[in-house]
Amino acid sequence: MYEQLKKAYQQMGISEKVFTLGEKIENGLVERFSRIDLVTEYNQMKVLHAMQEHHLAEAHFSPTTGYGYNDIGRETLEKVYASVFRTEAALVRPQITCGTHALALALFSNLRPGDELISPVGKPYDTMEEIIGIRPSKGSLAEYGIHYKQVELLPDGSFDYEGIRRSISDQTKMMTIQRSKGYLTRPTFSVSQIGELIRFIKKLHPDIICMVDNCYGEFVEMEEPSEVGADMVVGSLIKNPGGGLAPIGGYICGTKACVENAYYRLTAPGLGGEVGATLGLNRDFFQGLFLAPQVVGGALKGAIFAANIYESLGFSCVPDARESRHDIIQAVTFKDPEKVIAFCEGIQYAAPVDSFVTPTPWPMPGYDCDVIMAAGAFISGASIELSADAPMHEPYTVYFQGGLSYHHAKLGILKSLSRLEEKHLICL
Ligand SMILES: *Cc1c(COP(=O)(O)O)cnc(C)c1O
Repeated sequence: MYEQLKKAYQQMGISEKVFTLGEKIENGLVERFSRIDLVTEYNQMKVLHAMQEHHLAEAHFSPTTGYGYNDIGRETLEKVYASVFRTEAALVRPQITCGTHALALALFSNLRPGDELISPVGKPYDTMEEIIGIRPSKGSLAEYGIHYKQVELLPDGSFDYEGIRRSISDQTKMMTIQRSKGYLTRPTFSVSQIGELIRFIKKLHPDIICMVDNCYGEFVEMEEPSEVGADMVVGSLIKNPGGGLAPIGGYICGTKACVENAYYRLTAPGLGGEVGATLGLNRDFFQGLFLAPQVVGGALKGAIFAANIYESLGFSCVPDARESRHDIIQAVTFKDPEKVIAFCEGIQYAAPVDSFVTPTPWPMPGYDCDVIMAAGAFISGASIELSADAPMHEPYTVYFQGGLSYHHAKLGILKSLSRLEEKHLICL
């Protein structure tokens, strides 16, 4: 059987040396992987229980059109999400175009002119800079007279509690807390760290709304930030919670007051959540959510496999090979543009879609240097599927994430290694 497997990998362009290294690394991860399986198992029960609790039925998969009044599938989906995230309410819609849109919605709907927003965790995700108006942009919060402050993390990556306490004013209405490091090299926060931060803020000012950007964090742990005090958790359905099946969408789960505001902002004052046809997408949302714990578990194993293999070859990885995980992103620093390109080529050549194209660095809007991106996804841009990208500047770090199954993520990593070997950039 083992020989057959080796042959199958050879057919995929994986040399015996690369295959053998992969097996050696994988054998050392058995215990680690079994702990991930435990989280997957727990989250599978959580999702299944929510579906049963709300009597999910075939009728919920029927498409609605037009205004979408009385869309029982949509209503049930939102109840199931609220249940999974243990919140009073949820807004889960295909009309939310992406994660950035969901975040903008959460902010614009709950802030009013004169209010102040604080990020207590330093610089937020790139696209948030334009929502907030850190980089001037049309329609930003700044244009509406909503002010922004940020409190940097301490040099060791921990929260600057004293700085946060001092930053709060009478105008402070909301805190935006980003769980994942995104494409920075700070550590990702655990749910328990986020809980500690929220408890600190609420103790000072119980009325400050704590919103968590939950992108890439869903189902990585047994708890979500909404279980440790967050008033809103926000994310994208083409990342973790869509399980690779949701073709579009975003979610906001939180208190009734916050989510209601978001309903009125998404549609119109007076309409709220009562309209919004789902056009036959409900089944994919439900089925994707059902599969999400499994998919996230596989992506996490892939990230850990990558860190262990690349660290064994002397490259520095964030998170490193051993530390605990709070999102699915893996950064590998190559300090060499050629290696970055070879890595991304390998990821692309391992894809189920567009495996025959070669990614190249390209100028991208919003970036001050060329960027290389590898993705061959069923859902365009879905980063829960195997994907990698890198801005082409020092220290030449690749950010890698996803994989709808562990075995696909593993192949992607082995393929990246093969590409490095073929181009004589590493010696095994
Ligand atoms: C992906 C991501 C976003 C934005 O989501 P898009 O769907 O790309 O608009 C925001 N914050 C974090 C931390 C993310 O990872």
